[in-house]
Amino acid sequence: MFERVDYYAGDPILGLVDKFVADSNPNKVNLGIGIYYDEDSKLPVLECVKTAEQRIADPISPRPYLPMAGLPGHRLACQNLLFGKDAAVLQEKRVATIATLGGSGALKVGAEFIHEWFPASKCYVSDPTWSNHIAIFEGSDVEVGTYPYYDTATSSIKFDEMLAFIAKLNKHDVVLLHPCCHNPTGMDLTHAQWDELLDIMKQRELIAFMDIAYQGFGQDMDHDAYAIRKAVALGLPVFVSNSFSKNLSLYGERVGGLSVVCPTAEEAERVFGQLNYAVRRIYTSPPSHGGRVVDIVMNDEALHQQWVGEVYGMRDRIKAMRLKLKSVLEANVPARNFDYITKQNGMFSFTGLTPKQIERLQTEFGVYIVSNSRMCMAGLNVNNVDYVANAMAEVLKD
Ligand code: PMP
Repeated sequence: MFERVDYYAGDPILGLVDKFVADSNPNKVNLGIGIYYDEDSKLPVLECVKTAEQRIADPISPRPYLPMAGLPGHRLACQNLLFGKDAAVLQEKRVATIATLGGSGALKVGAEFIHEWFPASKCYVSDPTWSNHIAIFEGSDVEVGTYPYYDTATSSIKFDEMLAFIAKLNKHDVVLLHPCCHNPTGMDLTHAQWDELLDIMKQRELIAFMDIAYQGFGQDMDHDAYAIRKAVALGLPVFVSNSFSKNLSLYGERVGGLSVVCPTAEEAERVFGQLNYAVRRIYTSPPSHGGRVVDIVMNDEALHQQWVGEVYGMRDRIKAMRLKLKSVLEANVPARNFDYITKQNGMFSFTGLTPKQIERLQTEFGVYIVSNSRMCMAGLNVNNVDYVANAMAEVLKD
């Protein structure tokens, strides 16, 4: 009956976790999956989240279905964070926002919408990008192409090539962009580069699809949202998928949002209706628990402040690990340049290690990084950073 069903080889990043768990090396370090671990290698529960959880638990309340678009407070939280609390575009009611099942759910509903309403549009993603971007859009029958982005040889962005490529795209093609903390390279455009790119996209009448999964981990909440706000100011059609997985450390609750910025309030209402309909056809409505946490933390002034401080604490710890890793590598492998480690933002570092070096890291040292050479800096801490740096230095000497 099911003999013809294709075998699924598994996800390369999630599969690495299984390999890591099975490894008996006592010094093993998992730098594969994009998860923030604290100084003790533990997944943190943020203090602001603990307070929200206590409020939810006392008294324990009934669990009705949520609206298809999720809790209004969750949706408002996404809007305020992405566009700025007093943004004109919000006052003008030009943004259609739904709560989604993480950033992945937002991408999926967005891809379904593009397929339905812009069937001729192709979606272009950066080379390289988070591999699920391609899978999600192709899974919704949207044709996917890549635009030039990262040059491994120089550890920098191929900005001129990127611009030239995007300047040739067709009207209403979708360009998927990472406003901050690019996954997997960690290399972001400067504000001046964003200005230039978005100007061209405006001229070419392209659609910006901004996927922001690490807001607050780059510079700060507002700086990290620059590209989104600039695209809105230019009057581009903008889709934003946002994730609270990392910045609220709520990975398993699956909380995020999809916002579509429209030219008029009337169009935003139509789009909102169609986003609801897309949700209805896939899963009807989102789960309530994570949404309630988002609502409480983000819309309570004091808890919000506390949250921002906690995100910046995570950001700063990662930055300190970058400095430390760089300094040990520079001391051990003086012939190589490691400036890229501190130029990159967010959780990831694209190391440029070869497949053979990556394999040696794994088998000889129990250090796990993704096969495209992406290393999750948020898995480093004072107890393992020297070990990892020395292991890297060793394989780089080959
Ligand atoms: N976009 C990017 C760029 C990501 O890195 C991730 C998470 N790895 C996601 C979207 C998906 O986020 P979530 O886990 O909330 O589905």
